[in-house]
Amino acid sequence: MKQHLTINSLIEKYPEFCSNVYCGFGVGDGWLPILDKLFNNMKHHVNQIKSHNKWYTECKNRPGTDPNVLANHSLKEELNPQVAQVKEKFGLLRIYIDNTDEYIDGLVSMAESISAITCEDCGLPGEMRDGGWLRTLCNSCDEAVKVAKKELFEKYAKTQYAKTQKEINETNK
Ligand SMILES: [Zn+2]
Repeated sequence: MKQHLTINSLIEKYPEFCSNVYCGFGVGDGWLPILDKLFNNMKHHVNQIKSHNKWYTECKNRPGTDPNVLANHSLKEELNPQVAQVKEKFGLLRIYIDNTDEYIDGLVSMAESISAITCEDCGLPGEMRDGGWLRTLCNSCDEAVKVAKKELFEKYAKTQYAKTQKEINETNK
């Protein structure tokens, strides 16, 4: 069975990237699978650089290696990307990572773009909604938010009404 992702399980799954998220990690569950794929791709990229360097160093140190084999290669800079912050901003996923390269920046940009078509609450296809606060949601999550807001407003209106009535009664005493 596929395990349901949570922010904590995601952080535990990628301790090499997420052990020091010093500006916070806060988005809806619907976007966690996007982050899972992003971190998985980052892991692959970081490991690829490491194995390239291992291959290069071994070849270089092996006596009798044909120099032509190494001609178009060099050591690559090894990366230690660290997630600084993950949040929602203007209805979209925003991911801030330190120590990246162009490749990882591209992955991040792609992940952020996918959030524009993914419901932040449940992960189904969604679109941007403007209910006073921009959010990317599917139809049913958008409805649920509207109902909750309406209930909250009605509750507030009732309390205000009761308060006003009480004040009128007290003034008339
Ligand atoms: Zn939804």
